[in-house]
Amino acid sequence: MAIERIVTTSNDDPAEIELEITLRPKDFSNYIGQERLKQNLQLAITAAKKRGEPLDHILLYGPPGLGKTTMASVIAHEMGANIRITSGPAIERAGDLASLLTNLQDGDILFIDEIHRLHRTVEEVLYSAMEDYKLDIMLGKGPSARSMRLDLPKFTIIGATTRTGSLAAPLRDRFGMMHRLEFYSPSEVAKIVERAAKILKIKIDQKAAAELAKRARLTPRIANRLLKRVRDYADVNGDGIIDTTISHQALALLEIDDLGLDPGDRMLLNAIIENYKGGPVGVETLAALTAEERSTIEDFYEPYLMQVGLLERTPRGRRVTPKAYTHLKRKSPAVEDSQTELV
Ligand code: ADP
Repeated sequence: MAIERIVTTSNDDPAEIELEITLRPKDFSNYIGQERLKQNLQLAITAAKKRGEPLDHILLYGPPGLGKTTMASVIAHEMGANIRITSGPAIERAGDLASLLTNLQDGDILFIDEIHRLHRTVEEVLYSAMEDYKLDIMLGKGPSARSMRLDLPKFTIIGATTRTGSLAAPLRDRFGMMHRLEFYSPSEVAKIVERAAKILKIKIDQKAAAELAKRARLTPRIANRLLKRVRDYADVNGDGIIDTTISHQALALLEIDDLGLDPGDRMLLNAIIENYKGGPVGVETLAALTAEERSTIEDFYEPYLMQVGLLERTPRGRRVTPKAYTHLKRKSPAVEDSQTELV
């Protein structure tokens, strides 16, 4: 059974969605971090505005919760454009896409989250729409069917994906800009925590914000979630003010360790150590071992575990690093071997 996780990928809880909307920075000045991305986008936006043209199509990629959707709305704000937000799986038929596109106006932005999950038939319609703002549609069926080309407004697609590898090459090629979102530095996450605390009127001291930031997997979404959970703890067990004592206790209760790993992460690492002597092990096997979807392992667990140097990807599969053994307070195989020899 999969463990209930506070650090999950998805956010389909309405209260959580509401919170995310409240906390979403509206413009570049409030969007913390991702400096290189911001510089590139600011340049493209200024140039497009100067020429009076729509922005090139943009693909944003990187692990969940790093701010892709947020960035898309910041771009729309900076362009003074309307934004429509949808996702790959939500566009079921080519007709759904056609109605989305024909309802746009010049300069509008269509944000497609999880664009790698678009249906193939929908994707093919998108090609000509992105390339020359034309929509090819079929009217009727059988021998009397005929195709028609419709002119579309000059819109911009911003696609978001956790992996570019799953995107068909013809689709990838139609994006004028492709940008990777990086994990945030602990000090950037601390600023995000402080900003969220201010908006939500939560009292947190600087040290406690830094502590939360350290354990938030370098990811804004998780930082905001932790802040909320720790606030609950502070309200119940203290006077509502979050200091390091309260944050320590709350994080211990949530079983989030000082590297930000939760029981799910530790279970994954331990499973590789116990069943496969630390690896390498294939991702399918890992999915079976942990009762998680392969995509959850690839999109969520792995990027962070690799970022902090606890897991590495080899051509033969995933392998736990010596740092992981130390972190989990386990003997690494090399130590065990030498002890066996001594006996
Ligand atoms: P993604 O689309 O990559 O999964 P989101 O854009 O939905 O991530 O971001 C999740 C939440 O994290 C947002 O609601 C926002 O509050 C916060 N967030 C993301 N990036 C930033 C940032 N750079 N500065 C401040 N808050 C951020």
